Amino acid sequence: MLRLTDTQTKSVRELAPATPGRLTVYACGPTVYRDAHVGNLRTFLLSDLIRRTAESRSLRVHLVMNITDVGHLADDTSLDATGEDKLLAQARREDKSPFAIARFYEQGFHHDLALLNIRPADAYPRASEWIESMIGLISRLVDAGHAYVGGDGTVYFAAQSYEAYGGLSGNRLSDLRAGHREDAEALTAGKRFHADWALWKLAGTAREMVWDSPWGRGFPGWHIECSAMSLDLIGPVIDLHTGGIDLRFPHHEDERAQSNCAVGGGAGAEVVRHWVHGEHLLFEGRKMAKSTGNVVLLSDVVARGHDPLSLRLAFLSSRYRQQANLSWDAIAAADGLLMRWRTAVAAWAEHPSAALSGDYSAAVLDAFEDDLDTPRALQSLRRLEKDASVAEGTKFETFAWADALLGLDLARLVGQPVVAAALPAGAAELLDERAAARAGKDYAASDRLRDELATLGVAVKDTPAGQEWSVT
Ligand SMILES: [Zn+2]
Repeated sequence: MLRLTDTQTKSVRELAPATPGRLTVYACGPTVYRDAHVGNLRTFLLSDLIRRTAESRSLRVHLVMNITDVGHLADDTSLDATGEDKLLAQARREDKSPFAIARFYEQGFHHDLALLNIRPADAYPRASEWIESMIGLISRLVDAGHAYVGGDGTVYFAAQSYEAYGGLSGNRLSDLRAGHREDAEALTAGKRFHADWALWKLAGTAREMVWDSPWGRGFPGWHIECSAMSLDLIGPVIDLHTGGIDLRFPHHEDERAQSNCAVGGGAGAEVVRHWVHGEHLLFEGRKMAKSTGNVVLLSDVVARGHDPLSLRLAFLSSRYRQQANLSWDAIAAADGLLMRWRTAVAAWAEHPSAALSGDYSAAVLDAFEDDLDTPRALQSLRRLEKDASVAEGTKFETFAWADALLGLDLARLVGQPVVAAALPAGAAELLDERAAARAGKDYAASDRLRDELATLGVAVKDTPAGQEWSVT
């Protein structure tokens, strides 16, 4: 059975579904006013790995992932420099309606997920289509004394009304100080306690993405979105909630307070049975941020001639709960390994069929179930690849079986003329360019192109008959 690091207890816990045979998962999804960068994509891979591992034990997985398409709910708590929210700001920049922007980036998000073999969730509720339910939930919290209308007309959640606040992140109310300027301003404006957060804000001068409510025309706060959707689409018992580590506080702490109070199960009652968070991803040693220009998209990986699944393999090379440092070299290396394995799997498929290796398949599944130890699973497969005592037919069966967990399309080249197909994406063009450079006696360009091909894992040799290449 799958074991995962539980944020709340800080221990590795077995994931036992409340209803035997059925695992319910809620995953915080994208904010759709820009493309997801590779760090976001690594987080979205987490629920896919959990799903694949659970399904290998015949669990039925029900996964819900929200789409934050209301800009006011953006995860960046600070507003744009102009004071405008980010979705509206992006809409203005692109001269489109905010909904057109949201749909455009939502489509891009699904496209990226498909390229990464991340299976679609069972439901993708949009925040903009869930307003009525959020209003209903806020009303219930007000009626139960967990929320109040502040002097500024904003509806706030009363943090002190929930005794177990801080249980997820360790940020107890007594430790939280009213440090921010905005906090101080909100306090004078009508918030009763500095750690209270907005459930409904008045529209003010905003005209777009605002809705009528019992408290006036306005828009919901960010955290209430996930409480409303998860309670509606999964119910008051949710086996697992995933998200990036940056969402642990305040987003998930606040969501937990809202959901637990809405369900009214009393102290100790928890709607979410397991919270699991994916760690940060650095790129070339630096945090990914638009402000420093260090943002890498899946389209950048593809533009460099890499198979999109080389990114997935690069992600699998580190564990979800560890901060990882991705680099172009690591992606290129993953691309090389991916091509090598696909070529090998195609070659093994030509041999007499043989049974799956029980030892190696058990080792791979054990690694996945041990808190998604994907690096260990990959090591087992590297060992199998080189193990001369195992028949080729068995290697083929075992790699094909493991691919249900890995999602790397390892059998893609089976039945194809292997050598021709084994050339990595972009290499054929470089080979043509190099042939032209040599024909034109441009040896500097020819050498540069040979180096470029080497980074793709293609070795080139010059012979009297022209250049010859092999995949390394
Ligand atoms: Zn969320």
